[in-house]
Amino acid sequence: MTGKTVVAYSEDRELGLQILSKGREISDKLGAKLNALVLGEKIIDPKEYITHGADRVLIVEDPALGSFAVETYRGVVLDALKDVDLEVLLIGATKRGKELAARVAAALDTGCMTECIEIDVDEEGRLLGERLTYGGSVISSQVSTRKPHIATIPPRTFKKAEPSPREGEISVLDVDIQDRRMKVVESREKARGDAGLAEAPIVVSAGRGFKDEADLKLLEELAETLGAKVGCSRPIAADLGWMEEWIGISGYKISPKLYIACGISGTIQHAAGIRDAQIIVSVNNQEGANIHEISDYSIVGDIYTVIPALTKALKERMK
Ligand SMILES: Cc1cc2nc3c(=O)[nH]c(=O)nc-3n(C[C@H](O)[C@H](O)[C@H](O)COP(=O)(O)OP(=O)(O)OC[C@H]3O[C@@H](n4cnc5c(N)ncnc54)[C@H](O)[C@@H]3O)c2cc1C
Repeated sequence: MTGKTVVAYSEDRELGLQILSKGREISDKLGAKLNALVLGEKIIDPKEYITHGADRVLIVEDPALGSFAVETYRGVVLDALKDVDLEVLLIGATKRGKELAARVAAALDTGCMTECIEIDVDEEGRLLGERLTYGGSVISSQVSTRKPHIATIPPRTFKKAEPSPREGEISVLDVDIQDRRMKVVESREKARGDAGLAEAPIVVSAGRGFKDEADLKLLEELAETLGAKVGCSRPIAADLGWMEEWIGISGYKISPKLYIACGISGTIQHAAGIRDAQIIVSVNNQEGANIHEISDYSIVGDIYTVIPALTKALKERMK
């Protein structure tokens, strides 16, 4: 058994490094070691985890980990941590991370605080978490009372630390990967809409103000002019099927520098996905629409007139 340990894991490298910076703070408070757990088919530059705060990198490298089958990953995580005196496990709240965290928590007979926007430990070593509830309108403070404490952390909640020259240990673990109840038989690129949405610096978005799928061309032209990604409200994706993913409480939570909402009313469920946008611009023909309330710049007007005019003006400026 190792001494008290905090472990950080995400299959998304950038998120893994972000979690490490908070993990470092928590470990120092607990007097614990900080381990980065890294799983995959081929692990590149494990030292980066050390320069970003880890005392030790636990590596499991296996061709079976090239695609994500949650039961396989669950088994590997449990096996990799079996000799670790686990105090806290922090997992990146990606779709995969959330699936994994729930299963690992169940297997370890403990709880899981999901999508924490802040974490800390109290004097008894219990994990404290803050989570958004009611569509992001309320922050709920929670205490994890059972060890090991498990929490998931969404992307960009914490900033990754500046790399510093640190010493650390790299351990390649020999894990017997047996649990292959699920096999990935095919992976396909998603068609339209979501690619890179979470990371995009500019997002333009369609709501039910659009009357026809073909009209999305207007928005796509604006997006192309701005170098933006195209997103939408839930009905455009879930009801009309014009795109695959949407923005909001049940979809993507984004934090672009600029968000332009076109023909979107701005319900609490949509607003929850854009609360971290730096500048929100809305185009909506109803003066009283909620989206105007949460916007930095409001255009009260028809999207069919405003969007082409905006695109034209931007193109002229960029000449
Ligand atoms: C459990 C649950 C989870 C949900 N999760 C999400 C979520 O994650 N994301 C999400 O978006 N929604 C979510 N919803 C749905 C949400 O409640 C709203 O129904 C949805 O956000 C409304 O989408 P909208 O703004 O595009 O459409 P609407 O509310 O119909 O608004 C359309 C807007 O377009 C304007 N408009 C119409 N024509 C024009 C025009 N020509 N020019 C300019 N403006 C025009 C109208 O004034 C109106 O304000 C969820 C609902 C539930 C129950």
